[in-house]
Amino acid sequence: MRDNPQMNENASHLQATRTLSLRSTDIDALGGAFFTQLHPTPLPDPYWVARSEVTTRQLGLSPNWMDGEDALALLVGNQVAQVPSPLATVYSGHQFGVWAGQLGDGRAILLGQTAQGQEIQLKGAGRTPYSRAGDGRAVLRSSIREFLCSEAMHGLGIPTTRALCIAGSDHPIYREETETAAVVTRVAPSFIRFGHFEHFSYRNQHDELRALADQVIDRHYPECRQSDRFDGNPYAAFLETVSERTAHLLAQWQAVGFCHGVMNTDNMSILGLTIDYGPFQFLDAFVPAHICNHSDTQGRYAFNRQPNIAYWNLYCLGQALLPLIDSQEQAIAALESYKQVFPAAFESRMCAKLGMKSPRLGAREAIETLLSLLAKDRVDYTIFWRRLSRHLAGDALDLVRDLFLDRSAFDAWMLSYLELTSSIGYAEMANLMLKTNPAYILRNHLGEQAIRTAKLKDYTELHRLQALLHNPFDESPGCAAYADFPPDWAERIEISCSS
Ligand code: AMP
Ligand code: MG
Repeated sequence: MRDNPQMNENASHLQATRTLSLRSTDIDALGGAFFTQLHPTPLPDPYWVARSEVTTRQLGLSPNWMDGEDALALLVGNQVAQVPSPLATVYSGHQFGVWAGQLGDGRAILLGQTAQGQEIQLKGAGRTPYSRAGDGRAVLRSSIREFLCSEAMHGLGIPTTRALCIAGSDHPIYREETETAAVVTRVAPSFIRFGHFEHFSYRNQHDELRALADQVIDRHYPECRQSDRFDGNPYAAFLETVSERTAHLLAQWQAVGFCHGVMNTDNMSILGLTIDYGPFQFLDAFVPAHICNHSDTQGRYAFNRQPNIAYWNLYCLGQALLPLIDSQEQAIAALESYKQVFPAAFESRMCAKLGMKSPRLGAREAIETLLSLLAKDRVDYTIFWRRLSRHLAGDALDLVRDLFLDRSAFDAWMLSYLELTSSIGYAEMANLMLKTNPAYILRNHLGEQAIRTAKLKDYTELHRLQALLHNPFDESPGCAAYADFPPDWAERIEISCSS
């Protein structure tokens, strides 16, 4: 399987574009059934809130250009004279398990594509034909969360859409209370979702369905054309590869304790990227059934249900691709791969967290026992893993042991763990674990602190957090508070779909 198409960290081979030069996107070539061409709605008196230096570099842009007024005007949607064909795409989807019909980019506008094939999308750029009752805007609060989390996921090595910058404006936006507007510039090789395929399939537009699948395969999954699997059926191979990618993504989410919050099929990337950051949360205490989305009253998207939900979503994709695959057996066989790949990928991620380069006999049981102990005592998930890593590097065991109420159960687990890993040196384990178990994650309360000060136009906290999250495995001097337990008020933060 190929790696996810992340941007190359070392962009030195790329020609420095300096300014953002855009051509029309792939989807533009597919024709009018797929999108509506339109310009963003200008945002009054914009100003910079945050920029990602890393994404700037990876796009080959000059930081000087990003500093200037031209960049701000372009990336807030106020100056699109040189953009050949900005557009909003149409998609449908299943929301909370129910067919929702047509949705589409209700507030996201694709500006274009860079020469290196990265699409640039403005989120919060104004109304589109797919806005339904929405205002086409995004508030500063949710834009900061999306920006920080995109860059945090990248820092953690988890496939994600990226964020280049946030621009704000004092323009009022009405949600539960009056807030202000912002635009996040998102970057990805493609923003196509499962819901794009569902859209054309449910409408029996099979020519469009095929054109979309062919383009996505040719551009992102060319190996599916060469595959001998499924008697050379590229669409079945495509479904299988997307299933595998999604399985790897979910293994990473579960291992790091990431709860997406709204895993509707329109929020599932066809490239296996984390996409659409809304009411997400990184777990504080390890509560497997944690529901991070205040609007999810049934707990459909609870943390421990995510792997099954991903499979359910893939099933919807399989259903949508059935007219192309043309064989129910092949579609089911292609989806079956998820059931093998997810548990294996999860075990392998968890073994790395425990200092083992690869799974070994007894590892699965050790992981299960540990997770049940963490759940029983509601231990802080990230702090546990980091302290365990540091113990292997020489810190006192009590720092880990004190996290548990049932110390004798922990002692028994620790003994079995040391036995399981007895053939590996402590230094070797610590080395792997400190690179696998982050010190910093985007906890809700950290995001909240950055948002509160940003609303007062003080971005110091936001920028500090951004820098820490970019290197989540490196402990920065003077930043211990960012790696500490959440304060009591963190439990009372309610994050809903309102954004
Ligand atoms: P989400 O729950 O954020 O994935 O959004 C679901 C659908 O609602 C998508 O079609 C979005 O484009 C649309 N949407 C969400 N918020 C807004 C808004 N403020 N204005 C217009 N459309 C929106
Ligand atoms: Mg969405």
